Formats: sequence, C-alpha cells, structure tokens
Amino acid sequence: MLIPHDTRIALDTVVDLMNTAPEGGRGETLGDVPSLYAFVEGHQVSGVGELGPRDLRAVREVRSRFAEVFAAPDARTAAMLINQLVAGAGTTPQLTDHDGYDWHVHYFAPGASVADHLAADCGMALAFILVAGERERLRRCEAPDCRRAFVDLSRNRSRRYCDSRTCGNRLHVAAYRARRKDAAAG
Ligand SMILES: [Zn+2]
Ligand SMILES: [Zn+2]
Repeated sequence: MLIPHDTRIALDTVVDLMNTAPEGGRGETLGDVPSLYAFVEGHQVSGVGELGPRDLRAVREVRSRFAEVFAAPDARTAAMLINQLVAGAGTTPQLTDHDGYDWHVHYFAPGASVADHLAADCGMALAFILVAGERERLRRCEAPDCRRAFVDLSRNRSRRYCDSRTCGNRLHVAAYRARRKDAAAG
C-alpha cells in the first residue's frame, strides 16, 4: 500500500493523540494546556496560535471521535463518522510546499483552531485509508493489558501489537517461538 508522506504523518498524529487517552494505558497524558502545547509542537502542527482550556477540551473531543472511527464496526459507519468530523472542521483544501516539504494538500481552513486543524487533516488521512480499502489497518493492540492504537503498515496486515517496549517484545517472543516450532517440525 502506498501511503503519501503527509498522510503517514497525519496517521501518526491520530494514533499518538488517541494514545494520550486513559485507554492508552498511561492515564490521561493530555491533561492540561502545557501538555497540549507539547503535543502540538511534537507533531509539527503548523499555524497554531495561542492555546487555552477550550482548545484542550476540543482536541480531546476530536480524540474521542478518532477512537470512534477506529472502533467502527463497518466501513459505512466509519465513513459517516469521518464525514461528520471533517464537515464540522470546515475544510479548505490547499496545495502547499511550506518548510521545504514537497507539494501536499492541507485541508484545514486558514486560521482554524487546533482541534479543527486536527479534525480536518487527520480526518482526511483516515478518509484516504478508507478509500484505499485499508480500514482494517486501524487497530488497537491485542495485548490483554494494552489497548494502544496503531496503524498496521506491515505488508500483510499481520501486526497485532503496538510498538511499545513490552508489546513489541511480546511480538518478538511469539515470532521466536513460531520459528522454533517450525524448526522442530522440520
Ligand atoms: Zn504541511
Ligand atoms: Zn500494546
């Protein structure tokens, strides 16, 4: 699957935002305005001005909308959720090559709040995945004590665990056991 660079970045932002929620297993890590500033800077969300409690609430709301998309039982439900999300954000597609990046489309409207910015651009990245028929790549870790979100970019959509240290290791151990079993059988 070919995912454009900016879509991939937007998907990383979706997943990282979702994993700031208590469901991510580390408690609420988007608990105050400074942590929102840190998130926005860490994810190079451009054109964001001063942030306040209202932005924090709105971004957390967007975060739960992303979670609903991940949890959607079918493509039609996911499409409806993404449509609502993107429509609410008021998108204005615009080609740009800012900061040395190649041409790509920004979807957020000029002067959009950070929440609308995330809803527009990340919502369109999710739309892209749905259009590509790759919705099942939007996953949550299957480790029993971990519900972290991730996007499975593996060739055969076989990834089951997030890349946190514990779960990543679990994956390695499982692969190691499978190889040993194969070796023993052969
Ligand atoms: Zn950009
Ligand atoms: Zn995990």
